[in-house]
Amino acid sequence: MTCTKDGREHAVTDIDFAAGHQARRGVYRAVCRHDVAPRSLSAPPGTPCTECKHWMHTQLTAETAEPDWLRWLKTLLGSGVLPDSGPPGPEPRCGGERAIAPAQSGRESN
Ligand SMILES: [Zn+2]
Repeated sequence: MTCTKDGREHAVTDIDFAAGHQARRGVYRAVCRHDVAPRSLSAPPGTPCTECKHWMHTQLTAETAEPDWLRWLKTLLGSGVLPDSGPPGPEPRCGGERAIAPAQSGRESN
């Protein structure tokens, strides 16, 4: 969200956007604590705020990082502690399918 005051593009969380909308002051608190008076959405974005940019990068890195449990599981699979696949289970049953009756024409000769 680009601010009319400093011309920079700031990051505003959904929560802060909702709070700003509810306060009806026309300003929204950015993650860098700057109060953003938003520029028209049709205007091109301003220069990114370095603090907000850093915050966004941190968030993206945290989201794409492999969770601990997955790394642990891969370690176990790689070490041969766990089998690649479990014992064969029962075959899935495919019976019981019924042919769908063709739709009637809707004409009745009464
Ligand atoms: Zn900012």
